[in-house]
Amino acid sequence: MKKRIVSGITATGNLTLGNYIGSIKNLVIKQNEYDIFMFVADLHGITLPIDPNELRENVRKQLATFIACGIDVNKTKLFKQSDIQGHTEMFYYLTTISNEGQLKRMTQFKDKLIKNNNKTEQIPLGLLVYPILMAGDILLYNAEGVIVGLDQKQHLELTRDLAIKLNSKYNLNFKIPEPIISSFGSKIMALKTPTKKMSKSDSDLNETIFLLDDPKVAKEKIMTSLTDSENKVYYDKDKKPGISNLLTILSVIKGITIEECVNEFKNSNYKEFKKSVAEAVAELLETIQKKYYSLTDEDIQNALDKNRNKIQQEASLNLEKVMKGFGMR
Ligand code: AMP
Repeated sequence: MKKRIVSGITATGNLTLGNYIGSIKNLVIKQNEYDIFMFVADLHGITLPIDPNELRENVRKQLATFIACGIDVNKTKLFKQSDIQGHTEMFYYLTTISNEGQLKRMTQFKDKLIKNNNKTEQIPLGLLVYPILMAGDILLYNAEGVIVGLDQKQHLELTRDLAIKLNSKYNLNFKIPEPIISSFGSKIMALKTPTKKMSKSDSDLNETIFLLDDPKVAKEKIMTSLTDSENKVYYDKDKKPGISNLLTILSVIKGITIEECVNEFKNSNYKEFKKSVAEAVAELLETIQKKYYSLTDEDIQNALDKNRNKIQQEASLNLEKVMKGFGMR
């Protein structure tokens, strides 16, 4: 039996090179080997206020981008989170066995707290509790693994804790999901501030490469990314975060190791090196976009319809188990 894994991406903003490297590329590679449940997380998309039309548009764009990146619905169960009944219900059951302290310690919550000048009373409650929704997304399919970027490891820890609690308190037998960190082991950093994560919600668009960026614009972003004054290409995440980030990006796109990449550019100056990275990124975007712009709404609808029943069956089965465990049945 194939190992089952779950992966979701929040339907806010446009997908980035960070999403591609930290998550999508891995899923594309692993879809033969694993039973993958992959979803566009529109319920996570409303954690912070968002215009409904923008959310709808994001969902469509993300589904099309996944397909354009190589997600194949004959192998992967691709869906929209809110299409499947059970995610919000599972969330509620899990809140009853969660505690506030653990949620408040989440790095992502703390980061957002700082961005909001530490004013907790103005932070939507969703931001505190969404890791529980994420735990529900995983347990609803009783997944053995979750493909996550390094940034999400802490959230998976919470899922594991909740699964253990569910099993011991309610005599259930949910699998304790393991993190499958991107085999590229990478957190892609922002281009101008390479000490922070590249994020689709960054207000400065030059920090991020979007998969739907005009390839020329993407090239320019790489060429003007922050490096250092040493002008020697080698990997040192602490001393040379900018160059190290570009090395990671290039090595993943080319499918070679960082060492091989360093070796190739050890005699190059930064301009030459950046040019190679820029070209590799532009080429990747061109390939993805060619497919993306050829997809019709009907293609996307067909992709969603393909596995809907199987996905719902699995979700209902696991929700029923929890309901029975809690005494609702
Ligand atoms: P998000 O965009 O936060 O919903 O994340 C969706 C997936 O993409 C998660 O598995 C993240 O770990 C991954 N991801 C997002 N940004 C990055 C990044 N800068 N580097 C690596 N992985 C990322």
